[in-house]
Amino acid sequence: MSEKPPPVLANARVLEYAVLDESVTYSGHSSLFVGNINEGLKELGPVPCLAIAQDLRTGEIMLLHCDEEWDVLGRGGGYDSTAKAKTSAERAYHGVSSCWMDAKISHEEALKFRDEMWAEQRCSFCDKIPPDFNKMIERNNVRICDLCIAEFQKILAEEPPSDE
Ligand SMILES: [Zn+2]
Repeated sequence: MSEKPPPVLANARVLEYAVLDESVTYSGHSSLFVGNINEGLKELGPVPCLAIAQDLRTGEIMLLHCDEEWDVLGRGGGYDSTAKAKTSAERAYHGVSSCWMDAKISHEEALKFRDEMWAEQRCSFCDKIPPDFNKMIERNNVRICDLCIAEFQKILAEEPPSDE
């Protein structure tokens, strides 16, 4: 039996979650395609757990399709309310509407959890965490993110090397 999800999944605060039981029937279509262009897209099959979550950076509401360990297998995004995410979930999983549980995680709790999760991987220069940048270089326990590198490149370009 699946437990409660962690407060944050895929950099999004979990608002509500559902562990699907035998009262829920899969419609045959999740309408969610995963994979990539090169290997081909596949429609994600039935999953045991769903979560409605709000992206901590963009505020976007997402429907996360998860395995029993709450690893995210696929995500549908762009909902402007939890009600719309639930309607979409119900289309794929008939009966799920009565399964939703309130995750009871405040925005502050989610941020705190996320900060602790990434504590060892902050940029040594700007203190940002990985969800807030794209790439990072690490040497001798010092980390620098791509945003800082871009900033340093700009500074270097502005200051021509002196002749002295
Ligand atoms: Zn940085």
